[in-house]
Amino acid sequence: MAFTYDDANIFAKILRGEIPNDTVLETAHSLAFRDIQPQAPCHVLVIPKGKYVSFDHFAQEASEMEIVDYIRAVGKVCELEGVSEDGFRLISNAGRDGVQEVPHLHVHIIAGRPLGRMLAKG
Ligand code: AMP
Repeated sequence: MAFTYDDANIFAKILRGEIPNDTVLETAHSLAFRDIQPQAPCHVLVIPKGKYVSFDHFAQEASEMEIVDYIRAVGKVCELEGVSEDGFRLISNAGRDGVQEVPHLHVHIIAGRPLGRMLAKG
């Protein structure tokens, strides 16, 4: 499928410096910042700087440099946040059924309390 990126999404505005963010890590191709409505003591979003809508879009069209940078950034945030020992959850919502609110690829790193089962009902 063809992916269409919307430059007006809120993470694009963050990347353009139009709205502030609580940065955890910035690399050449990625940015990690705290979620504005944290669901747990640690809730960090990691986004690529490139214009990718979702994980599958990124996997299909990003360069190897962007992909390596992004995956390493996720690992670095886990290290910086100290979540590796007690554990964490990585979530990347995509599209309508995935209930993706912001159409710019992001993974949620959620940690700091027991997180329960993987999916809630409904
Ligand atoms: P989703 O697209 O459903 O995976 O989730 C989008 C996430 O972005 C939600 O957890 C929001 O709380 C978060 N969010 C929305 N706007 C901001 C913002 N300006 N800064 C940080 N997080 C945000």
